[in-house]
Amino acid sequence: MQISPHVYQCHIPDTHAMHPGGTNIYFVGDPAEEMVVIDTGDYDRDWTRQILEFYEKLGKPKITRIVVTHGHMDHIGGLDRVQDAMQAPVGCHPKLAKKLSMMVGEKNVVKLRSREMLQTGGGTKIRALFTPGHAEDHVCFYVAAERVLFTGDTILGASSSTVEKLDDYMKSLGQLSKLRAEIIAPAHGPVVPPPRGRNLSSAYMGHRNGREEQVLAALAKGITSPDEMVKDIYPKNLKKALRPAATRNVRQHLEKLKNEKRVVEIPASYKLSD
Ligand SMILES: [Zn+2]
Repeated sequence: MQISPHVYQCHIPDTHAMHPGGTNIYFVGDPAEEMVVIDTGDYDRDWTRQILEFYEKLGKPKITRIVVTHGHMDHIGGLDRVQDAMQAPVGCHPKLAKKLSMMVGEKNVVKLRSREMLQTGGGTKIRALFTPGHAEDHVCFYVAAERVLFTGDTILGASSSTVEKLDDYMKSLGQLSKLRAEIIAPAHGPVVPPPRGRNLSSAYMGHRNGREEQVLAALAKGITSPDEMVKDIYPKNLKKALRPAATRNVRQHLEKLKNEKRVVEIPASYKLSD
């Protein structure tokens, strides 16, 4: 599906509990000239088939670069086959270069620079934005002329994302919210058009700040364990598959609050040594 003059979305329906609304691969540029591909999907052969079918439907344009938003398997699992079919250099965060080099060979991997501008067909310019938080090697991409922001897993279309380092994540959201994006093109879930797309990064920050308030409120009530906090904060009917992610989220908030010296951790339990 075409979502703006130079942005095409290849949607892969998938049933992963963490990906409500499936997964998206994007082709950016002019199909009659050259394009850049964003992400390469999971290792699943059927995913790769869908990506390559989409590429064929676009008329097999010359791909000037394959870029990946981060090193999680559902974004790089298909890289080997996709790169083989498209014969394009792969761009990634410097921290991911070694891993990808093992997949496609060192000569095919280019380390992106922070705020680097990539050029491709139709005069399209794509800005790479280093946005650690969901993963330390996360990169978002922005096509300013069309106000389309590719958020990877930093902002999702239909749910909140998991976070590796919350302090970094909040900084990254702050950076994204300063762009004047209109359309959020996430790696999972539906593309979010305006008006909601315009405010999604700020809404995400608000959501996290709200969670932080809830964690502080739970602490004030005397709740001390992350598991108990999840029960206090999240809806009672929270899907079982999402519970570990919820606990991780709460732990992230506690970690951030600890770094800010607003919370102290008390080692609470003991066991016999092995
Ligand atoms: Zn993902």
